[in-house]
Amino acid sequence: MNAGNVKIAHPRRCSFEPAPCIWCGIAKFEPSLEHILPEALGCPPGFVLANDVCKKCNNQFGHLDQALLRQFELITFLGNVPRKRGKAPSLDNWSSIAGRKTDTGPQLHINGGPGSFEALSKTLKPIQETRDIENLSFQTSNGTATVKFSQRFGDDPKFVRALYKVAFGAAVFWHGPVIGSGTGMTAVRKFVRKGKGQFSAILIGGSGRHDHYFGPPYGGRDTYYWAVGMRIFGIEFVMDFDPEQRLIAKMKDQLTTQGYKNWTILPP
Ligand SMILES: [Zn+2]
Repeated sequence: MNAGNVKIAHPRRCSFEPAPCIWCGIAKFEPSLEHILPEALGCPPGFVLANDVCKKCNNQFGHLDQALLRQFELITFLGNVPRKRGKAPSLDNWSSIAGRKTDTGPQLHINGGPGSFEALSKTLKPIQETRDIENLSFQTSNGTATVKFSQRFGDDPKFVRALYKVAFGAAVFWHGPVIGSGTGMTAVRKFVRKGKGQFSAILIGGSGRHDHYFGPPYGGRDTYYWAVGMRIFGIEFVMDFDPEQRLIAKMKDQLTTQGYKNWTILPP
């Protein structure tokens, strides 16, 4: 994957009147610039909320951004997506993997076991003792080496909250803060802020793309609440703001009926 090939939809919107913080509802506050997709994941330029989120809320969501980053960290590292303030990507928080960018490209160390291993001044555990990655294989053929592994995706409960936070931010981006402070959005706000309630996301993979896309929220005749579709590094997600999750249930039925393979419901 080459970060240079990452195509980013570049949404634009008109400006909106100032309104209460979309998360906590406080009326007077010092706005804090929020990147709707964390910068470390390559937030599209201008895809921000400049006046809609108070500083306190913005700071309190750091753990959700981390959960999102964690899921995509390997992809962003291999794709050389710069971190905050243009810092080169590195992998420092994994038990069996370490990575750093060098002059010749990304350097990735994976400990396939069985013992411990020193790399980039860190002791790496064998992957079998961690939940980092699975099914590691290494093959050489005609002078080319191929490393394959699989990563479990979406089993962090905070990941779905983080996806809904992005979806909610995207809805406000397109329709203004009024959509966020509406009473119908109370349940989804509570889910993102406190983890209360049952919200799911549909994940559809296998598109073969690696770009981001954030469409305007969908509110058709067959939906009771807004729903948001987005693509992060080529993986499609659908989030349904309906506390009863009726659109998710409907899509689940459709995907099953059509015999579609590359999809799942999160949390698993
Ligand atoms: Zn707030």
